[in-house]
Amino acid sequence: MDDQERYQKLQAEKERDWEAYCQFCGMCCGIKDEDPCEHLSEKEKGIYICNIYDNRFGLHKTKAGRVFRCVPLREILNKNWPGDDRCAYKKLYFKSSAVGN
Ligand code: SF4
Ligand code: SF4
Repeated sequence: MDDQERYQKLQAEKERDWEAYCQFCGMCCGIKDEDPCEHLSEKEKGIYICNIYDNRFGLHKTKAGRVFRCVPLREILNKNWPGDDRCAYKKLYFKSSAVGN
């Protein structure tokens, strides 16, 4: 394995680790304010999945028709949205920030 392959493998592992934190609560997709993204589905009680996950970034509509932009979670970690206290990434982010203080 050369350096480039090692780097790509490491990046893929880091991405998998990052993705594994998600609790599928649906809060970042609008489930709390009762007008979620039209691509959000309840897989089982309280567990939500995105139907277009691999192509999710960009303009979409809520179930009521409001247009919004889906962005990487890293871009909204320091913002607030309804139900964000449930987000595993925010907990991780603020815990890390507290450790750094
Ligand atoms: S497109 Fe974005 S906002 Fe819509 S369900 Fe998928 S991840 Fe959530
Ligand atoms: S709010 Fe956080 S934990 Fe919940 S689905 Fe979105 S990214 Fe995952």
